[in-house]
Amino acid sequence: MKARPPPRSMTTTLKAKPRVSYDCSKCPAYCCSIYERVEVTPRDLRRLARHFGLTLEAAEERFTKRYNDERILRRQSDPVLGRVCRFLDLTTRGCTIYEARPEVCRDYPGRSRCGYYDVLQFERETQDDPDVMPLVQITFRSRTPAG
Ligand code: SF4
Ligand code: SF4
Repeated sequence: MKARPPPRSMTTTLKAKPRVSYDCSKCPAYCCSIYERVEVTPRDLRRLARHFGLTLEAAEERFTKRYNDERILRRQSDPVLGRVCRFLDLTTRGCTIYEARPEVCRDYPGRSRCGYYDVLQFERETQDDPDVMPLVQITFRSRTPAG
């Protein structure tokens, strides 16, 4: 298990697979957007390469980029949420590499509740609109500014 995750990243911090009270099929895939960095480990890269029948080098070049000492998934523009993972289907809002997705995606959110799903449900009930989609932006900071 890693120490506290750096901001704006989806990392392998939580491993438990509890019973869940959220339904990803009713969500626009907020978690595939909000994290600017989705970590790709060497094992993830091997899985991706195998999935696409590519060499490791080709998969690395095509699907990932570096962020400092980290390898992360590339992203794409999305008319709904702005920027999202390159593997998100922009129409169905599903993961196009579900069986080959990185470990962090398999683990997320790692607890029985999803914060965004709670907001989504709350607003759909409050607005009495089963399709309304709250656009929530989270700004991460490493520490509380002095003041
Ligand atoms: S934000 Fe939550 S409910 Fe939506 S896809 Fe991600 S884990 Fe599922
Ligand atoms: S690999 Fe799939 S589950 Fe992971 S962030 Fe991308 S679209 Fe979402």
